Amino acid sequence: MALDIVLADEAATIRFGEDMALALKRGDYVALSGDLGAGKSTFSRALIRAIADDAFLEVPSPTFTLVQTYDLRIPVAHFDLYRIADAAEIDELGFDEALSDGICLVEWPEKADGALPADEISLTFLHEGDGRRVFIDGPAPALARIRRSLAI
Ligand code: ADP
Ligand code: MG
Repeated sequence: MALDIVLADEAATIRFGEDMALALKRGDYVALSGDLGAGKSTFSRALIRAIADDAFLEVPSPTFTLVQTYDLRIPVAHFDLYRIADAAEIDELGFDEALSDGICLVEWPEKADGALPADEISLTFLHEGDGRRVFIDGPAPALARIRRSLAI
């Protein structure tokens, strides 16, 4: 069953990213949905820094490059498809290779128009008051891993 978590402030989003870093493994595709400013990049930065074990690692937004890759303990590819012109570009960006090597985080997956796998972990960030809420859905075994690492 889907999970639903309140993220009261930015620190909570960062903690959530750090906890998710413990839950994810090679081959996980995480689709990140939500309006501009909902916390997708804040979450991604925290997750990547946690896997890197480096709180100061530069994690630039992939807004213009469309993808940034990180050669870490588990390699991470961070996509932002907001500016993708054609869903066929997903292939050129190396999505499949990145997924076989490690973890793919994808902001604006809806722009890929079906060119991404269906078997995803999906995080949907929503504004709620001054904070945020996140809905987590995905295959049952992935949700079980996530629940364990979040201790819920
Ligand atoms: P997105 O990538 O979804 O457009 P960003 O992560 O770039 O969003 O920006 C989110 C903004 O909201 C940042 O200024 C960040 O500090 C703030 N933020 C992140 N999480 C929370 C939260 N749980 N509550 C309040 N503000 C948050
Ligand atoms: Mg973003």
